[in-house]
Amino acid sequence: MIFVISLIAILALLALLIFCFTVFFDQAVFNRRGTVYRVKTDQKKVALTFDDGPSPVWTPLILDELKKADVKATFFMIGHHVKKYPEIAQRVAQEGHTIANHGYAHSVVLYYTPEEIEEEIKYTEYVIKEITGQTTKYFRPPKAWLPKDIKQKIKAMGYKVILWSLNSKDWVRFSHQYIVKYLVRHIRNGDILLFHDSGDVFKTEGGSRRQTVLAIPLLVKTLQEKGYEFVALEELLNE
Ligand SMILES: [Zn+2]
Repeated sequence: MIFVISLIAILALLALLIFCFTVFFDQAVFNRRGTVYRVKTDQKKVALTFDDGPSPVWTPLILDELKKADVKATFFMIGHHVKKYPEIAQRVAQEGHTIANHGYAHSVVLYYTPEEIEEEIKYTEYVIKEITGQTTKYFRPPKAWLPKDIKQKIKAMGYKVILWSLNSKDWVRFSHQYIVKYLVRHIRNGDILLFHDSGDVFKTEGGSRRQTVLAIPLLVKTLQEKGYEFVALEELLNE
C-alpha cells in the first residue's frame, strides 16, 4: 500500500514538474542552432506567427483583427487542417498573409528519418499549393523538436527552419492582458512572436483561442505606439 502511494506521489510530482517546465520554460531555446528565431536589425520590425491552423472558428476572428489593424502575419499551417478547412486557408492567402509549413499531421519529428520528413514536408507543400496557390518556403517543427540530421535535410530542401524568439504561451490560456504585458516587456527589434490560431492545451483543434484573438489588437496598438511595425516573415528576413 505504501509502495502504491509513493508511486502515485512520484508520478504526480513528475507530471507537475513537466507541466511547470512547459509552462514557464521554452524548450525551443535548445534547438535554435541553425534555425531562424530572430532577425538582427536596427529597424523596429517584428513578425507575428500563428501555428496549428487553419481553424474554422478562430482563424477568421484573428484575420478580422489583423485586417482592422492593417497588419500582415505568417501562418504555419498543418496540412490536414488545410485539407479539412480549405476555404479558411484560402482566405488567409487572399488577405495577403504568408502561409508556411507546419507538417501534415503535427507529429513531433524527433523519430523521423530524413526521407520521412522530406515526404511529409513535400506533401504538405503540395496540399497548401493546390488549395491556396502559395508555395511554402518556411518550416516550423511541431513542438520545436528536431534532430540535427533532420534540420540539415530540411535546409537541403531549400527551406528555412523558423522558430521564435518570443513565445506568447497562449496555449496555456493566460489572460490576454497578461500575454500582452509579457510580450511588450520583452520585445526587441527583429523578434518572431509565436501564437496559435487553433487548438487547446494539448490538442491542435477543439479548444479556445479567445485570449489570442483578444491579445492581437491590444498588442498591435501598444507596440505601434512604441514605434514597432508588424511584418510578414519575408519582409523581416528581407526576402
Ligand atoms: Zn504546432
